Amino acid sequence: MSFTLAIVGRPNVGKSTLFNRLVGKRLALVDDQPGVTRDLREGEAKLGGLRFTVIDTAGLEEATDDSLQGRMRRLTERAVDMADICLFMIDARVGVTPTDEMFAEILRKRSKHVILATNKAEGKAADAGVLEAYALGLGEPLRLSAEHGEGMGELMHVLMPLADEFADAAAEHM
Ligand code: GDP
Ligand code: MG
Repeated sequence: MSFTLAIVGRPNVGKSTLFNRLVGKRLALVDDQPGVTRDLREGEAKLGGLRFTVIDTAGLEEATDDSLQGRMRRLTERAVDMADICLFMIDARVGVTPTDEMFAEILRKRSKHVILATNKAEGKAADAGVLEAYALGLGEPLRLSAEHGEGMGELMHVLMPLADEFADAAAEHM
């Protein structure tokens, strides 16, 4: 018995890059229903000794501006409800945007465990954005570079105690 991690955040922050790094070629689709496969991707993640299910919220890239906010909200809520843990990703080079604040609000209301990640954090250009992320009130931001594979050890470190917690909870129900 393992856990499910949903990667959420606005388009272009690097969610799919992290998903692909975690899943490699072990990709499966969530659902056969039309419209569903496009929006949520599910895969079996491998990170050091950890194995877990990971969900990528996709399918927002082609939305028009006026439909984007609503779609982001609905899709994120669906992913959050499917997951045990949410990794909320922002772009450290951009800093916190109003849309990021909307996501933070959804997560504070709905999710049990939230890991805040500032991606694209390679190099000094990211320092200001990482500091800004503390203001989201979701704890200490994890500094990641999904593209360059930086911060993966720290991500594993944060996930390990949670993985134990879910294993214990599953054992109690046997
Ligand atoms: P998504 O829309 O959130 O799924 O974002 P993508 O994974 O498609 O990435 C959006 C863009 O950001 C792509 O051009 C990626 O190559 C780039 N990107 C992703 N991760 C990083 C990173 O760690 N550093 C930098 N500099 N760029 C990144
Ligand atoms: Mg994507």
